[in-house]
Amino acid sequence: MTLWDTHCHLHAPEYAGAHADLLARAREHGIQGIVAVGCDPATNRATLALARQHPAMIRSAVGLHPEWAHPPGAVPALAAQVRGHRPLVVAIGEVGLPWYRLGDGPVTEEGRRLAEGVLRACLRLAERADLPALLHAPHGAASRALELLREQGIARAVFHWHKASPEVTQAIVGAGYFVSVTPELLYRERDRELVRSVPLTALLVETDGPWPFAQAFGAQRTEPWMVERVVEAIAAVKGVPLPEVRAELAANLRRLFGPAVLGPEGC
Ligand SMILES: [Zn+2]
Repeated sequence: MTLWDTHCHLHAPEYAGAHADLLARAREHGIQGIVAVGCDPATNRATLALARQHPAMIRSAVGLHPEWAHPPGAVPALAAQVRGHRPLVVAIGEVGLPWYRLGDGPVTEEGRRLAEGVLRACLRLAERADLPALLHAPHGAASRALELLREQGIARAVFHWHKASPEVTQAIVGAGYFVSVTPELLYRERDRELVRSVPLTALLVETDGPWPFAQAFGAQRTEPWMVERVVEAIAAVKGVPLPEVRAELAANLRRLFGPAVLGPEGC
């Protein structure tokens, strides 16, 4: 059954020189693929190169991370990367809105307006290229990101490492978008509550590596193999047999990325 890490920063310096070993470990744990996400034109380039080097397991998403500073011209540069490498690109991401809680966040009104402008442009790019959007829009940013997805007519999107109020989560899932969970599910009640509250048909798994996790994962570099543990945790939290969970997650992958992305072994 196909199992992917749907969000990992394989461009990060923590993984330099380690990709072959990391992929071998992932395979040992039954992981068939990884969506490597980019954050700016340089990391997008690195991500595209990895997808070219490891076509059996790595697919690339290209984006403009909302918490990174981007010079003028970043959006056209992203558009050029999508056009120039379209066969390698499976999603637009990581894109989104900077972290803030409405009313008291660190983002000024002007910063918010600029961030929304960049996200709108990225979503238009996704819509034109018929690609899903991988969103960073936690907490107070989630509801606004949902509005922008609807406004731009985006059919396929995932709120990565999702964190938001139950009402906003239900609106996201009700609109047909996905939410994804990380190894935090193994030790954080907030994540367990999220998994209990949404149907299996709305869930994906990811690591957001190399972001470090605690408890069972403490002192280890975060790697894609860890999503195997996340899937087991979903089965435990929902009280659903593991094969059923894996089948649902595989179907979700197909719905988000399309069958072509999964390759001939995708099932
Ligand atoms: Zn990320």
